[in-house]
Amino acid sequence: MPDIVQLLPENIANQIAAGEVIQRPASAVKELLENAVDAGATEIKLFVNDAGKALIQVIDNGQGMSETDARMCFERHATSKIKNIEDLFHIKTMGFRGEALASIAGVAQVELKTKKAEDITGTYIEIENSVVKTQQPIAVQQGTSISMKNLFFNVPARRNFLKSNTSELRHIVDEFIRVSMAFPEIFFSFTSNGQQVFHLEKGTLKQRIVQILGNNYAAKLVSVQEETDYMNIYGFVGKPDTAKKTRGDQYFFVNNRFIKSAYLNHAVMNAFSDMIAKDSFPMYALFIDLDPSRLDINVHPTKQEIKFEDEKIIYAFVQSAVKHALAQFSVTPTLDFDLDISIQQSDAVSKPFTDDKRSAAASSSLYKTFTQKHQAHFIENKSDLQHWDSELSVVSGQLSVDGEKEFTSQGDLDKNNKTEYTPESLQKKEDKKPTNNNFIQLHNSFIIAENRNGFIAIHQQNAHERILYERFLNAIKGKPIATQRSLFPATIELAPGDTVLLNELLDDLQLLGYLVEPFGNNTFVIQGSPADVVQGNEKATLEKMLDQYKHFSNDLKFNKREKLLRSMAWQQSVKAGTSLDQKEMESLINDLFECETPNCTPNGKPSYLEFKKEELDKIFGR
Ligand code: ADP
Ligand code: MG
Repeated sequence: MPDIVQLLPENIANQIAAGEVIQRPASAVKELLENAVDAGATEIKLFVNDAGKALIQVIDNGQGMSETDARMCFERHATSKIKNIEDLFHIKTMGFRGEALASIAGVAQVELKTKKAEDITGTYIEIENSVVKTQQPIAVQQGTSISMKNLFFNVPARRNFLKSNTSELRHIVDEFIRVSMAFPEIFFSFTSNGQQVFHLEKGTLKQRIVQILGNNYAAKLVSVQEETDYMNIYGFVGKPDTAKKTRGDQYFFVNNRFIKSAYLNHAVMNAFSDMIAKDSFPMYALFIDLDPSRLDINVHPTKQEIKFEDEKIIYAFVQSAVKHALAQFSVTPTLDFDLDISIQQSDAVSKPFTDDKRSAAASSSLYKTFTQKHQAHFIENKSDLQHWDSELSVVSGQLSVDGEKEFTSQGDLDKNNKTEYTPESLQKKEDKKPTNNNFIQLHNSFIIAENRNGFIAIHQQNAHERILYERFLNAIKGKPIATQRSLFPATIELAPGDTVLLNELLDDLQLLGYLVEPFGNNTFVIQGSPADVVQGNEKATLEKMLDQYKHFSNDLKFNKREKLLRSMAWQQSVKAGTSLDQKEMESLINDLFECETPNCTPNGKPSYLEFKKEELDKIFGR
């Protein structure tokens, strides 16, 4: 038998390794931007075509590479940033693994142009499938330009796995924001298919945040700043009134590296606890600086998760720093910031770290309250509706609220959504319909109406969401809603990321009656709105719609249109708490029972519940 173990050819090894570092166009964008930052650039320009599938190019004015370095940088484990394992614990650069360029060269057609300040000529290299095609001297300015074309051209399985352009572009925008926010002293621009999406002049962190997240935050940022021997924190949180329904604008950076940490996020949320609604998310962009030897950034190939030497300390520190900041702006009455002294004196700061301490930290009461609280919150969130149901059945003994009520656990659109109601048959619909027009509104939220079997309680907002959803669906399917031109068109200015989103929705919005035109510079003009909606609120409507849209946007189940329809229906629905007169109730109920599926919202919340007379009789002992 011949021996069978062999070394993989280099290009195959690179393709496999690329799977870890380069999952999608956005990961290549991140690596290229970080290399430019590491090279000391003061200007970095990003260009993409076709959401990065056709082209990703990064041009910087950093230190550039010599001819030999230009050739070497595409080798696996080729890096100028560390020399031995010790260096790993003092990392100040974004990169250090020496894998990015090798991976990229393994899965794309790459062109590199680079020149150092002191060199007379630069170097041009073309490399494809890890094989150098061309290398020659070239006249260029100091710095580096790397362009990669046709990502995954030689790994069709990966190419096929890429998502729609909208979704890949969204990921690229996210990565661009995460790098550019951390370096306000560097100029960044981002151009997609020839259109400039971001143009970020050098400035302060505050200016950078406003440039990226939009002018709305300009007067709404609270500065966070605390320094100790152990660590520093600085950055901004949004005032409580800027908290949104979506998690979007939340950024943590450790030593300028964007990280994801549910744990630290919880610390901030805790600091905000009583100041914002339970289901809303405050904006924050917080930077933690600490000695690199106190953390391990090596745990995650794309370096988004890191391990702290002592998480508990960081948690307490973040929470109190944010509380302190909010207190100073007198948005919270009491302040408790005695923690920074206690942190400074704590063992973890003053003594070396051991395994014993790690387990002590995990069993500490602070840590435990955190995990327990978190769970309690989770349960609380899910229970609302079920809890109401069970109360009802306890009262009634055997009252069934609605014969065919069925709970399905799959397809929960909104995490707070609890249960999903399944559509009723048409036959049932006739049965449920009110038999007269004596409607009673209760608490400005519910409408009681008599029907054949007893009575129904209608939730006005849920009912209206259903009506609007079906109306919009028909519009999209070919019965566009008439547009009324505005005499004084409003303009709307968005954050650049939202501009990308809205651009994608313009055609569908027009079918829904909204005529919106791009006006450059992240501005849009609202030329017209649906003829059947009172004019004057278009701007707020579109802003709220986008917010809600993003709320759905991580949900892969729904396509762009479905998300738009649901967001619009939710946005325009008459809210609970609105008083309705007889005529309004009548038309709401008529419209509801004209619907194909009247008994639930598109997201599966019930729009009405039926209370049967015979069962009410039983409850009352008759
Ligand atoms: P890493 O960043 O982890 O070192 P990369 O594969 O991203 O690994 O890059 C390899 C090396 O190529 C870097 O260490 C750096 O020396 C050089 N390099 C990459 N991009 C640039 C750039 N834009 N300007 C100057 N040098 C660069
Ligand atoms: Mg790198």
